[in-house]
Amino acid sequence: MQAQYFLGLSFGRLRNFVNGVWMDSRTDVWRPVYDPGAGRVIAEVPYATDEEVNSAVEAAAEAFEKWSRTPFLERVKYLFEIKHVLENHLDELAAINTLNHGKTLDESRGDLRRAIENVDAAIAAAYTLAKGEMLHEVSPRIDEYSVKEPLGVFAVISPFNFPIMIPFWFFPYAIALGNTVVIKPSDITPVPMARVMEILQQEVKLPPGVLNLVHGGKETAEALVKHPHVKGVCFVGSTPAARNIYRLAGEHGKRCIAQGGAKNYIVVMPDADMDVTTPATVSSFFGNTGQRCLAGSNLLVVDNGFKKSFLDKFSRRSRELVIGHGLLPGVEMGPLVNKAAMTRVKNYVEKGVEEGARLLLDGTEVRIQDFPDGFYLGANIFDEVTPDMTIAREEIFGPVASVITASSLDEAIETVNTRTDYGNMACIFTSSGSNAAKFIKNVNAGNIGVNIGVAAPAAYFPFAGRKNSFYGVLHGQIDSVDFFTDKKVVITRW
Ligand code: NAD
Repeated sequence: MQAQYFLGLSFGRLRNFVNGVWMDSRTDVWRPVYDPGAGRVIAEVPYATDEEVNSAVEAAAEAFEKWSRTPFLERVKYLFEIKHVLENHLDELAAINTLNHGKTLDESRGDLRRAIENVDAAIAAAYTLAKGEMLHEVSPRIDEYSVKEPLGVFAVISPFNFPIMIPFWFFPYAIALGNTVVIKPSDITPVPMARVMEILQQEVKLPPGVLNLVHGGKETAEALVKHPHVKGVCFVGSTPAARNIYRLAGEHGKRCIAQGGAKNYIVVMPDADMDVTTPATVSSFFGNTGQRCLAGSNLLVVDNGFKKSFLDKFSRRSRELVIGHGLLPGVEMGPLVNKAAMTRVKNYVEKGVEEGARLLLDGTEVRIQDFPDGFYLGANIFDEVTPDMTIAREEIFGPVASVITASSLDEAIETVNTRTDYGNMACIFTSSGSNAAKFIKNVNAGNIGVNIGVAAPAAYFPFAGRKNSFYGVLHGQIDSVDFFTDKKVVITRW
């Protein structure tokens, strides 16, 4: 289908999906949902009432009784079906993802591929990792074995920036292992996951209550965490919200994965291959319009005189990025997700200037002729940034690169480790194996890139994160096999 078709789409009042049925919300609180590329309202999202949250959890709890006893191979068959329908609807879902989020179609397709990869990994994990262990003759006539059992209802609470992919970091594993789920998508980008649920309802036909969806914001998230039937919570979002969820989960005795915000350093060594480094760093800082928890934010250049020529290339390529509506061909950078995000990023650019950084590239005055109401910004690049400046410390979550200079790799590692409270990702660009090895061993972050600008782990690895970027013990993706099950150890004498 042509972009034109999706540009005109509206979705009306969104509904909650509970026990296999779409339910109109009885709430009084509704908020507009935008196509940020056009600044047009495309839907209204309800803030579910406590009663609605309760009915979703109750439905999931009831479904758990049967689903957890459904033969393992039968459960996995549904996952094969989910993969199949996602593949079939990939282009449509990518377009809806772009329409509501703003990212380019290629970026949305990438998100969908990662979602599908997680279904694959959940199938593989369920087959290979969910089995327990057995030891015969621990003592005479005594055998001992362990099994991994599902726990019950899990809540999945997701952020705006990967509306489909992030729920897929968790729910395929949860249901493959016999649990049931209530998803609460972001209230800013609720449309793509609502469409996924429609497709799953019509074409996969999971038993009612296995997968539910309620819309809302902070209060909905909190109500889910506090609900006595919810056994665990998977949360991804900003650090203050992650902390809130982790604290609440602890208070209510729930297991919790809480992935928070980020402030990622990208280190460029003088020996880096510029043909690799320039496109990879531009894409790290400005891909997804900088709205990625694995986006570069501080560009730490270890200078011996090459910095000027590197920054010339980096700025030139960044200036050339084609900005526009993500649904249109050739666009390389879409809008910010909403007006508030656009204003926040502009304020950070002003702050950087105020604090004495030098604005090499100013993207705050971008206008897109055909979409005058869209929330557009271009790439912004600051030089002469110091690690104590606000723009170097706080998460901006938009297209702003802050260039900091260091005189050695040791100083760069020290800066990464001590000048940010976050630890989601750190990357190095170098052609030296020993520089890379030193960086990998000494840097304190969860996901490390070497000549990679966005170190996003494949689904077969955990999605790591440290310091204020992560609260919990087990991580998402493959680690969640242990997260979504509990061990039972049986000792027998016969
Ligand atoms: P957000 O924290 O505003 O919202 C995330 C989710 O939590 C939403 O569903 C929202 O409704 C809910 N929520 C908001 N405030 C809450 C509160 N105080 N208590 C409980 N729930 C609350 O985040 P966002 O703006 O939607 O997403 C961007 C943030 O997510 C950035 O900070 C980004 O770094 C982070 N993020 C992290 C990862 C990761 O893997 N670590 C991945 C993607 C995004």
